Amino acid sequence: MADPVSQETWSASVLTLFPEMFPGSLGFSLAGKALEEGRWSLETINIRDFGQGKHAQVDDTPSGGGAGMVLKADVLGDAIDAASPAEDARPRLYLSPRGAPLTQERVRQLAEGPGVVLLCGRFEGIDERVIEGRNLEEVSLGDFVLSGGEPAALALLDAVIRLLPGVMGAEASGEDESFEGGLLEYPHYTRPGTWEGKEIPAVLTSGDHGKVAAWRREQSERLTKERRPDLWQKMHKEGRTTD
Ligand code: SAH
Repeated sequence: MADPVSQETWSASVLTLFPEMFPGSLGFSLAGKALEEGRWSLETINIRDFGQGKHAQVDDTPSGGGAGMVLKADVLGDAIDAASPAEDARPRLYLSPRGAPLTQERVRQLAEGPGVVLLCGRFEGIDERVIEGRNLEEVSLGDFVLSGGEPAALALLDAVIRLLPGVMGAEASGEDESFEGGLLEYPHYTRPGTWEGKEIPAVLTSGDHGKVAAWRREQSERLTKERRPDLWQKMHKEGRTTD
């Protein structure tokens, strides 16, 4: 395993009760190849290893009552300190439905940094005191509730890793994707020219690069207006739209 705070390799440390879930999907395709090539490194820390007593207890009932269990502050504090000592420059993120929704902008910032420390919650979540006590940034995947932070951690890492230098085959393919320019991406087509009576838009086979670019821009704007008026408004305010 590579040094988790190495300057050269972008490194992820994941604190989880289910280390077997990693690298999971990140062991395949672009991310898997990049992991093999040493373009990023992954360390999992089993929270259970910091559990207390004969049963390695990691959780307890919620103070004030109610259903479920809460991951203990003392256990998590020890696990975080082991994974990420005070001098670790990597941001520490807690995957949480209460967090700031993850954006491509934050993903890009993370890719430009030294790596990330991710805490995956389970059950009802974690003791609130850990968030401040260990300077955790809460990040959400969206307005829905997962049963654990692991799928969110995998998704976040997937989004970051594809942006690391040398990971994507054609470097350019990262640039005009959804969100990168503030808009959703235009539609894609490939051969056959006719499929079940549906044609590829003629402009795309015209060979006129200027017209193709204009059509794509138009489509991006149309889709963004229709599907994501929130994004559209933001772009408009920033003066980044054509109308
Ligand atoms: N009781 C909590 C939900 C706990 S879900 C609440 O209502 O806010 C259990 C764990 O799943 C959380 O600790 C968190 O790590 C993870 N999780 C659930 N939904 C998530 C989301 N939308 N984004 C990121 N992580 C999420």
